[in-house]
Amino acid sequence: MKHHIVILGGGFGGVKCAQTLCRGLPRDNAELVLFNSENHLVFSPLLAEVVGSSLNPLDVVMPLRQLLPGVFCRTEEVQNIDLAASQIQYEGEDGQLCRMHYDHLVIACGNVTNLNLVPGMADHAFPLKSVGDAAALRSHVMEQMEKAEICAGPQRRRWYLTFIVVGGGYSGVEAAGEINDLVRGSARYFQSFRAEDVSVILIHSRDRLLPEISPGLREFARRKMEKAGVNVMLNARVALVTPEGVGLEDGRFVKGGTIICTIGSSSAPVLERLAAPKERGRLLTEPDMRLRGWANVWAIGDCALNVNSSDGQPSPTTGQFAERQGKQCAGNIVRVLSGHPSKSFYFRQLGELCSMGGQSAVAELLGLRLSGFVAWFVWRGVYLFKLPTWARRFQVGFDWAWLLLFPRDLAHLRTRQTDRVSHAHYQPGDLIISQGEPPANFYVIEQGEVEVVRSTAKDPQGEVVAVLGPGSFFGERALLSNEPRVASVRARTAVEVLVMGKNVFTQISQALAPLRDALAQALNRRAIDVWQEQPRVHELLKRTLLRGLMEAVPQPLLKPAAALRDVGHAFVEHGHEFFYVSSDSQTLEGVVTITDLIRGRSTGSTPTTPVSEFMTRNPVALAADDNCAIASTAIREYRLKSLPVVEHKDNRRLVGCIRVRRLMAYVFRELGTE
Ligand SMILES: Cc1cc2nc3c(=O)[nH]c(=O)nc-3n(C[C@H](O)[C@H](O)[C@H](O)COP(=O)(O)OP(=O)(O)OC[C@H]3O[C@@H](n4cnc5c(N)ncnc54)[C@H](O)[C@@H]3O)c2cc1C
Repeated sequence: MKHHIVILGGGFGGVKCAQTLCRGLPRDNAELVLFNSENHLVFSPLLAEVVGSSLNPLDVVMPLRQLLPGVFCRTEEVQNIDLAASQIQYEGEDGQLCRMHYDHLVIACGNVTNLNLVPGMADHAFPLKSVGDAAALRSHVMEQMEKAEICAGPQRRRWYLTFIVVGGGYSGVEAAGEINDLVRGSARYFQSFRAEDVSVILIHSRDRLLPEISPGLREFARRKMEKAGVNVMLNARVALVTPEGVGLEDGRFVKGGTIICTIGSSSAPVLERLAAPKERGRLLTEPDMRLRGWANVWAIGDCALNVNSSDGQPSPTTGQFAERQGKQCAGNIVRVLSGHPSKSFYFRQLGELCSMGGQSAVAELLGLRLSGFVAWFVWRGVYLFKLPTWARRFQVGFDWAWLLLFPRDLAHLRTRQTDRVSHAHYQPGDLIISQGEPPANFYVIEQGEVEVVRSTAKDPQGEVVAVLGPGSFFGERALLSNEPRVASVRARTAVEVLVMGKNVFTQISQALAPLRDALAQALNRRAIDVWQEQPRVHELLKRTLLRGLMEAVPQPLLKPAAALRDVGHAFVEHGHEFFYVSSDSQTLEGVVTITDLIRGRSTGSTPTTPVSEFMTRNPVALAADDNCAIASTAIREYRLKSLPVVEHKDNRRLVGCIRVRRLMAYVFRELGTE
């Protein structure tokens, strides 16, 4: 029988683990599957070089299927890990949640940047974690130089040319060095500013930069950076970020047009949802890297807190450690599968390297400390050697050699994307949302109606639990709770919807208080278990069709051209609370209530203004063969006292109306007042 081994994450840890397993396990003995949301490994130590235009974005990524020929590489996002069932859940290409069993699982999903630690950081700062981040930042830096060139005021120009990097670890130091090199080195191609106008500020909360390396080298790194023109602010903690710059905890404000955030990380979302022992977001493991309490689950790299038995210290979150853990974890899995005991994680670091721009670096290799140009040369050599394929080594080596002879490329491509708020059309019967799928969008109905269908194991066909019409919305519950959809939504008529992507929805719903309130009320109203407390009422309403309880359409039907004055008279004369509007005295086109009439009068209408201008157009309507439970939910949703009833969901010929008091009287008559 083949062992099914799943690796979650295609970073340094996951890739090394997969490569080692490929070599250590015969193919007919094991099936290896690696999940990584992107189809490539990101060589993050070189991301700063992309920002500084020393390398192209594609130089720092390696396609996984070319790196791992014997492994089934999949790009689905893993949503959940079910430790008890030895299964993972992932989002399939059709958006459905799928499950996969594993005999052994290696969790190597790294961590994610958390921009929410400081107010304003998420809105105004650039992260530096992915190739996309690096390319976007590079583009922005170029744009800032272009704006500085055409800007009239010297103060504003200085603001455009000020780059603030928050965090003095590896990525912050490297990013500050690269941006400094790029902008100062490019000043000679611009007419309106000189290298002296450029300001790069590195803000670090501790008293020394680069806590990862030895104290002597840290001091050297700081001096070298300052000599190159980087303003290093130590013991300075950023408290807030605005579009103008950053506010420090001690009350100072540092102005600058670009803020780069290299601090703050949190667990990958899949681990946030995993109930397993963690410390500061990292999974706690046994000495051999097994997840505490689970014999067939291993955790490596940035997401795990593996103690190094060489010095008894928790492993730092670096590529070097992730790679080594990947290798030793694979060795342990091979040992366990062949009945041998596993070994504790043990690693003696070979050295540390950090580039600071300006052809300068600091390095500590095999106990030898290097700095300046020699260290920089070693840095490049080591990283060239560490690149996993010969193709990339040649490519990167060539780009670096090119830069020794020619200046950096200042061209940039605008990566503006189309707006992620879009419109969509669905035909009757089309599925807009499927129950169980992960949440992606929020929808606002512009025209037409949808029905909400909930299925259960007993009733896989599903029951229509609600009907929604124009002005209403759906999809909010799963997005807000980040859980799979609890019901399907299907177009009941031809429907036009406004579709908002997850990020846009999150941003708007957080910023716009009325929307937030409307969502909170909707969540309350749409609580799934509203019927659970009254199952008998639910059963009764479900088996009663509207045609048995509806009342006659209030007469007369108004024409869309009826004047406001005449509508007023109709209310006085007939004593109704509303009238329906129809051109052909049959088809429902609108409804006008006393509230609509008052609103019509107060918004500048004249006595002759037609009702079509202040009525509610195409109101939600129920079909005569809908059941009363749907009517009750719709009445609750729209907070109305009555709803129109039409012949059929495809045909809006008015046949009656259903009133809340009639429904209540019916329930009391049938079930008593219990
Ligand atoms: C700018 C920068 C510079 C750095 N410089 C250095 C350096 O000079 N030296 C050094 O040693 N280290 C450096 N590091 C740190 C180093 O990159 C990390 O320690 C290393 O990448 C960790 O490897 P990993 O395998 O644990 O995770 P990662 O490399 O982060 O890989 C995790 C992968 O898992 C995927 N994933 C996560 N969740 C899911 C999911 N649910 N479904 C599918 N896929 C998922 C992610 O997309 C990602 O591809 C730097 C990091 C950055 C950001």
